[in-house]
Amino acid sequence: MMKNTLLTIAVVAAATSVAHADHHKEPGPGYKDTPKITGQDWLVHDADRPRPKVVAPGASFSDLAPAPSDAVVLFDGTNMDRWTGGEWKIEDGYMEVGRGTIQTPAPFEDFQIHLEFATPIDVVGDSQGRGNSGLFLPGNHELQILDSYENPTYAGGQASALYGQWPPLWNAARGPGQWQTYDVIFVAPKWDENGANLSPAFITVIHNGVVTHHHRSFTGETNHRSASTYEKPNLDKTIKLQDHGNPTRFRNIWIRAIGDYN
Ligand code: MG
Repeated sequence: MMKNTLLTIAVVAAATSVAHADHHKEPGPGYKDTPKITGQDWLVHDADRPRPKVVAPGASFSDLAPAPSDAVVLFDGTNMDRWTGGEWKIEDGYMEVGRGTIQTPAPFEDFQIHLEFATPIDVVGDSQGRGNSGLFLPGNHELQILDSYENPTYAGGQASALYGQWPPLWNAARGPGQWQTYDVIFVAPKWDENGANLSPAFITVIHNGVVTHHHRSFTGETNHRSASTYEKPNLDKTIKLQDHGNPTRFRNIWIRAIGDYN
């Protein structure tokens, strides 16, 4: 009797553990049950896509770079006047992700932006749960922010990835708690009056002084677990900083128009 009961418990425990593993279907961080990325052979968040090689960035690059005279300072360390939504705290010259994603009420289109971030010094969680935030550019295009220092995750979800679309060329991440820089040139997608796409969004990114994208086009707006396209126009021209549940910090954010040749 005792033996049978123990056997039953063992069988039930084994079945439960199989069901649990099936539910996740993940060989490592990432997915194998998602569609292909538009125009690529890799799956969205593909667990097998090679991860970018690590390059150690220099000690500083544009850290604390003062804003050029024609820039709009989006955050100078003292107030969140140029942001709406969310409840974030300001302390010692930085703002820290609190409750809710924040956004600029002001619209932007084609620009250069400088931003600094630091993922939490206390390492909590792993993969996409570690220092996750994001810089959302006009048209809903996420430049991923993550603690990518010795933190295995799928290639398309690394820091500096065009999330779910393109991994960065290199993993130039600094460690937890260290300030990091993004210097980004962004050109918003263009649409005709009928909502047909004329041109995708283009981005160039320098992460801690290392080029991680050079005039790369987004495949569409940012999605999770599904392919993106430009079928429907997204006319949202605001910039957002993502609340993904991790207390990532930001400082020194400024933006300026690319401008035209004389
Ligand atoms: Mg994110």
